[in-house]
Amino acid sequence: MRRTTRQQLQEVPQPVGSPTVAFEAPAWFEWLDSAGKNGAVLAFVSILMGAATSRSAISKQLRVRSTTVSAWVSAMVKAQLVTELPSKPGGRGRPMGQLIANPNRLAVAVLMVHSQALHMVTVNLLGQEIWHDSAAVDPNCDNAAMRATLQALQQEACAQLPQGTSLVGISYSLSGLINVGDANWVFAARWPGIKNLKLADLPAPAGRAMHVVRNMDAQLRARCIRRGAAGASERTLMLHWGYGIGAAFSASNGASINNTTGFGEVGHWQLSHQTLRCRCGHHGCLETVAALWAIGPQLLGANFDDAMDETQAAELLRVMPLTEHPAFNLALQEVVLAACNLCRVFFPSHLVITGPFIENPGAWAAFTDAFAKRGILVDLPLPRLEAQSSGHQLEQEGASAPLLMGGLLQLLNETAM
Ligand SMILES: [Zn+2]
Repeated sequence: MRRTTRQQLQEVPQPVGSPTVAFEAPAWFEWLDSAGKNGAVLAFVSILMGAATSRSAISKQLRVRSTTVSAWVSAMVKAQLVTELPSKPGGRGRPMGQLIANPNRLAVAVLMVHSQALHMVTVNLLGQEIWHDSAAVDPNCDNAAMRATLQALQQEACAQLPQGTSLVGISYSLSGLINVGDANWVFAARWPGIKNLKLADLPAPAGRAMHVVRNMDAQLRARCIRRGAAGASERTLMLHWGYGIGAAFSASNGASINNTTGFGEVGHWQLSHQTLRCRCGHHGCLETVAALWAIGPQLLGANFDDAMDETQAAELLRVMPLTEHPAFNLALQEVVLAACNLCRVFFPSHLVITGPFIENPGAWAAFTDAFAKRGILVDLPLPRLEAQSSGHQLEQEGASAPLLMGGLLQLLNETAM
């Protein structure tokens, strides 16, 4: 197992032709809205986000009686989520001082796949990374080797927790075919040797929750949550065109329609006129002519590295004359065709394209042009087309927020008992 420690996971490349998504703290109020309101948790989030920093401010903001706020603050202080500074040190009476949130009280470890490497990131209640390590995994590894790598990262995440921080659980945000319901990593094109790796068999740390999500679903959910009410009503189709190719779809509030056996493996759609062998073992898959793993060597030459992160690939691709390259133009045609066909199945209100290729301004212009020319059906309006920049912030938020929110609810419920 080759180890690399990378500190800069939170890259913020400039989006191409898309509305800016604020890559800051997680959208906690919106996550709370989607989880259902809980007064004490809402009060904590208000303090955490700096919206209310005193008892009176909480009372005013949430329109609750001071006795209710008092009970909430007691629970938060007892749970070590909040410190209350006395306004008059040594003074008489109940202190009415500033409330300071402890963002490191709870954390979630998020396991993410970036090209040929596994990254384990420990995220606190502000969405900040408090620890991060990675391990490159041999492309020919089998289940046992992958399991050993996962276990080592998991153990290290637990060992490196700051004092006073409780780990709520581990969230596995994975690429490839995942049976989320069974916590089964069925297949990953990056590691063809792993098959049906049961994540539930990993010796999870006692008392910690395990969460499994497709990385595209985590990203899509966080994106919709961040759009607030507008995101809740949108039918969003996300198509990732990168190292691999995949899709995710949500018809309501970012909740993906995939929750059991798998979804969106459009990278392995068969093209009738292609015979190239794919990493999945079949021949003629879309990925064989359009994925970064397949055309990266032609486009980037010696600069291509199978283990490179998509954000690194985006940096290289952004300044190239991509649309002058025959391999890219063939890939573009096939991906646009796949996007249009997906739209005929899901009829999204908007289509979000992610991945390194569309960070190239010329490539994005060619994509939007080809998409508009193909159309969907009769004179139906086209979905709104958006490009989303590469990066892992949304995935990290979508993978960690549900566990952090659950941990927060549980901690406050237990403390209030
Ligand atoms: Zn395939």
